[in-house]
Amino acid sequence: MDAAQKIHLLSRELIPVINDLDENAVKVVLEHIHHCTECQHLYLNVMEMEENYPQAPIANEVDIKPLKKLVQFNRGLKLLLIAIRAVILLYIIYSGIQFYDWGTSAQAAISYIQSVTFLFYFPASLFLTIFTLVFFNKKWIWLSIIFDLTIILFIDRIITFFI
Ligand SMILES: [Zn+2]
Repeated sequence: MDAAQKIHLLSRELIPVINDLDENAVKVVLEHIHHCTECQHLYLNVMEMEENYPQAPIANEVDIKPLKKLVQFNRGLKLLLIAIRAVILLYIIYSGIQFYDWGTSAQAAISYIQSVTFLFYFPASLFLTIFTLVFFNKKWIWLSIIFDLTIILFIDRIITFFI
């Protein structure tokens, strides 16, 4: 394949996106178009298309912006839902460690953590799950339900396992 053929091949790829090319690249493509009828046709077709649908690229940009915002919002909300759970759990465990002497009354501390989890974490998790139902897909709904149930039902075992 000689140089002219290579330029022809590249021009055919680049003509549809000629408006996005660098100034020098545009020069090379236009130079080639001057003496290549095949690329001339393609170029004219592309220009015609753009004249007929000049709004298309702008419309796309407008559509993408709210989508991006929605993705950011979803990500922020996910982090928030995780952070709220973490803060509640840390507080419950921290207060259990503060109020009880683990050497002598570990069992009482665990019962305390268990009942506080039921009193506070359980209603909070119901509330957070409603958010998850509204904003997220099934995977996240199941993940949060399984996580919350594990915490509520097995917090005592989890604590015993780690401490
Ligand atoms: Zn050509």
